[in-house]
Amino acid sequence: MTVLVLGAGLIGVTSAYFLARAGETVTVVDRQPGPGLETSFANGGQISACHTQPWAHPSTPALALRWMGRTDAPLAVRWGRWDPALWSWGLRFLANCTPGAYDRNMERAVRIALYSRATLKALRAELGLEYDQKTKGILKIYRDPREYGKGLKAMARTEDWGLHQKALSPSACVALEPALARVESRLAGGILAAEDESGDAHLFTRALFEKARDLGVTFLGGHAILGLEASLETSGRKIIGVVTDKGPLRADQVVLALGSYSPFLARTVGLRLPVYPAKGYSITLEVSNPAGAPEVSLTDEGQRMVYSRLGTRLRAAGTAEFTGWNTTLTQARVDLITREAQALFPEAGDFDTASAWCGLRPKTPDSVPIIGQAPGFNNLYVNTGHGTLGWTMACGSGKLLSAIVTGTKPEIETKGLGLDRFLGYR
Ligand SMILES: Cc1cc2nc3c(=O)[nH]c(=O)nc-3n(C[C@H](O)[C@H](O)[C@H](O)COP(=O)(O)OP(=O)(O)OC[C@H]3O[C@@H](n4cnc5c(N)ncnc54)[C@H](O)[C@@H]3O)c2cc1C
Repeated sequence: MTVLVLGAGLIGVTSAYFLARAGETVTVVDRQPGPGLETSFANGGQISACHTQPWAHPSTPALALRWMGRTDAPLAVRWGRWDPALWSWGLRFLANCTPGAYDRNMERAVRIALYSRATLKALRAELGLEYDQKTKGILKIYRDPREYGKGLKAMARTEDWGLHQKALSPSACVALEPALARVESRLAGGILAAEDESGDAHLFTRALFEKARDLGVTFLGGHAILGLEASLETSGRKIIGVVTDKGPLRADQVVLALGSYSPFLARTVGLRLPVYPAKGYSITLEVSNPAGAPEVSLTDEGQRMVYSRLGTRLRAAGTAEFTGWNTTLTQARVDLITREAQALFPEAGDFDTASAWCGLRPKTPDSVPIIGQAPGFNNLYVNTGHGTLGWTMACGSGKLLSAIVTGTKPEIETKGLGLDRFLGYR
């Protein structure tokens, strides 16, 4: 069977690799000249099953109101302008802010994140992949005792689903990560997910892509995808081709893995995807003083920031802006995350020479990706909407999607991961 994978980010590349391994003839199409050059380029670097708490929580609407209008808030939403995609996404998000929905969504996210983490570890061992990885776990630090209490509660719940974490006192946090010594007195405590990891997502995407090429995967870079073409068959709708600026492409099966841009292309065949971009920022600096920069990947829960040591570099990432498909690097946001990082690790390196980046996280309203066959289509598959956890969930999502396309038995339960979970989308 021939398969076109649309998108060469983390999700498209992992999908292509596992499809090729299953014996399919795969072509990956992307507008960029190489893999992993958009949202998968400079993310926070965390393989964080410990971050599977959905954004839609009973307390989120009140928190969002408190942050409204604050320029230093970790979350900024531009509700003022007329953006039907944002409003419809927002309503679905609100519908997920109930205790029952939160619990259900977290189980789904933990399910795919744990599967993905195990798949990544196995793949790395098998293929000898190198991507500045560190296997020292992820430590979440808390300054506010109330927030820490909430974190401990969530930790107890995820334990039921197989995600093991451990509470640490402030001194135990510093014993694990000495670069935290100067803030020890301000810490309420920490939570360690020892099996979580970190690494450079872009290096990984490139390395896996080379392995995919060894399996015969073809790459069509520099191809802007303009639309899909469908016909009506007795068995349902069928994608007959993909239109690009370089001409039409044909295949037996098509996988949509275009990150935040997936809804635009889906819409060309009448398929609606509840995915909206949450823009985030990162800075990367060369570490000049190794003792002043963390080795353990960290999440500063109060400031909503993550830190990963990638070889000789330190990556700091955070903030979320709901401002549409706008990829302008806003200096105020860069300054915000630089200030946070510098306040925590002032001696890590020269922050004036840090490189800044922003990317669009493809968010679903329930913080669970959409993985599966598109309802009503007999040869269109979707692998998108990974939001804040696309690196964490990439390997599992790619392997699961490949099983669904090839009709083999998936290694995990797929219930609740497809598009059919959203009312109005089936
Ligand atoms: C600041 C920040 C920090 C993050 N930190 C983490 C983290 O620590 N851990 C974690 O797990 N996740 C993290 N993420 C999330 C993660 O990076 C994303 O979920 C992931 O990269 C999404 O991958 P993707 O393949 O779906 O999308 P992308 O990487 O964006 O890939 C989509 C591809 O589609 C292509 N494309 C789109 N439209 C077209 C078109 N019309 N024609 C041709 N090609 C097209 C693009 O060129 C791109 O290559 C972070 C994200 C951000 C922004």
